[in-house]
Amino acid sequence: MPSNRTSMGELEKRVRKVIKRGDDTFVVAKGEDSLSGHVPLIPNAKVKVIPLGGMCEIGKNTWIIEYEDDMVIIDGGLAFPSDEMPGVEIVLPDISYLVQNKNKIRGLVITHGHEDHIGGIVPMLKQFDIPIIYGPSLAVGLLEEKLKDAQLTDKTELVKGRPRQTFKLGALAFTYVRNTHSIADSFCLIIHTPAGKIVHSGDFKFDFTPVDGEFFDVYTLAKAGEDGVVLLISDSTNVEREGYTPSERSVYAKLEEEFNRAPGRIVITTFASQVHRIRQILDICVKMEKKVAIFGRSMLLLATISRELGHMKFPDGLLINLEDVNKLPDEKIVILTTGSQGEPLSALTRMAFDEHKQITIQPKDTVIISATPIPGNERAVANVVNALSAKGAHVVYGRDSGVHVSGHACKEEQRMLLNVVKPKYFLPAHGEYRMLVLHGNLGVECGVDPKNIFIMENGDVLELTGKSAKLNGQVPSGIIMVDSTRVGDVDEYIIEQRHKLASEGLLSIMTIVAGGKVLEEPVVEAKGLVLAQEDTTHGQFVTDAKKIVAKTITENLSDSKAINIDDLKEKVKVELKKLIHKELKREPLVQVVILESK
Ligand SMILES: [Zn+2]
Repeated sequence: MPSNRTSMGELEKRVRKVIKRGDDTFVVAKGEDSLSGHVPLIPNAKVKVIPLGGMCEIGKNTWIIEYEDDMVIIDGGLAFPSDEMPGVEIVLPDISYLVQNKNKIRGLVITHGHEDHIGGIVPMLKQFDIPIIYGPSLAVGLLEEKLKDAQLTDKTELVKGRPRQTFKLGALAFTYVRNTHSIADSFCLIIHTPAGKIVHSGDFKFDFTPVDGEFFDVYTLAKAGEDGVVLLISDSTNVEREGYTPSERSVYAKLEEEFNRAPGRIVITTFASQVHRIRQILDICVKMEKKVAIFGRSMLLLATISRELGHMKFPDGLLINLEDVNKLPDEKIVILTTGSQGEPLSALTRMAFDEHKQITIQPKDTVIISATPIPGNERAVANVVNALSAKGAHVVYGRDSGVHVSGHACKEEQRMLLNVVKPKYFLPAHGEYRMLVLHGNLGVECGVDPKNIFIMENGDVLELTGKSAKLNGQVPSGIIMVDSTRVGDVDEYIIEQRHKLASEGLLSIMTIVAGGKVLEEPVVEAKGLVLAQEDTTHGQFVTDAKKIVAKTITENLSDSKAINIDDLKEKVKVELKKLIHKELKREPLVQVVILESK
């Protein structure tokens, strides 16, 4: 299928072109106050709240709010694979419940543009249309690119939502409330339902000195709290950390210090979606009269869309082409790159291991990793730091370096949200099981009745009425593993085979039979089982395997009877497995190909 994917070259051109920002729709004070657009309460109305992803895990956040014949999806996220999923590129939630009910879907509401909140929308649109998708402008800009790339723009209507805007979707209504997070343009939701108001925190921290001057609209949440909130769904990510997450602005001084100290080039990496961080890095570069080259498509795409929408501001001439990096003096150069998680194909990893076409790391280089590893990526990041250090670069990294702060609320901020919203029922979300439990305990400390706290798993259904809330049944849930080289999904069988290949190796044999005889000497290949010099026609194990194959085939062939090739293959497999067990004490995958010549 042809792709409409925007090329790096086009993005480079776009990011240099300043597009004049129109009316400032992002400032809270200018947004519309429309909490009045509420939905009337209906006695005994049953509203279902269903997480399809994001419970007992970090990632693939996807929720459903359902009332009678109306269903609205909140976020559609993906997750990245764990080490136990070799070859898998992304993990999606099982959305069969949405497919079964596609006629009820009235729309989708995005809280913010992180991949674990929007990365699963394209796969949804491949299975069903969504009449309308509301999102913060940045999230909509990013999603637009994805839809163009997948040629799905006709499957939905994208609408940029404003803070304090309320929109109706079926019998439900949603109000966007500005919050603060690591990506610009992020929202909490007030969900107006016939069973009362629900507040969904989205991903948040309380940053009272936000880099973009877009303040957390605490007032609107407090007002909802005062009116009465039946249920709070809230981000549990940092519940294990005491105190407060520092403001994003606190990173500036430390980054500036490192920039001042750097004798030569600076290579800096952060999450591509960390718009505030990138904005601060570019501000420092402007101040210090350095030039910036952006490496990595995701980083360039975010910078392009953020600049076009006014979330990032920098003068023309700050960015340079990748090819020009080696033409300027080292002390003028900043390379902003992907790779903060040690991703094998990222520019930083390739630089660290001498595999990058344009950049070779030198002893005077300063490399700043302005991010902390997501659990599971620690080893990969450590390997990159080791490789960079071995080349003599000065590497600034780690939680205590001051060059990174989290985008999620710590315990005191979570406590503050509970106090502001004062929910009757509390549903900790966006966290692993232990985090949900700790966050539930925090709810009790903040005055929520312990009976009113729900620790849910993906697929569980929470049923709300004006008077009660209870867990009531489950819908299909689970994971879909996707590998971009395949058209379909990766299933448990494939994963099991990949594990077996990795841990036990492969024995493969091929031969041709005809007229009751073995026509060709069997070809045997033993991968991951014997030393290279033994994996030849003369190696002992290979010689034994050939003998066993020839013997088994000869014993089971006869001139008179038609050959059942499948039976024959099974018999050969059984004999080979006996041999492998005896000689190698292993259980590799065994692949037998017998061709019949007529
Ligand atoms: Zn997020």
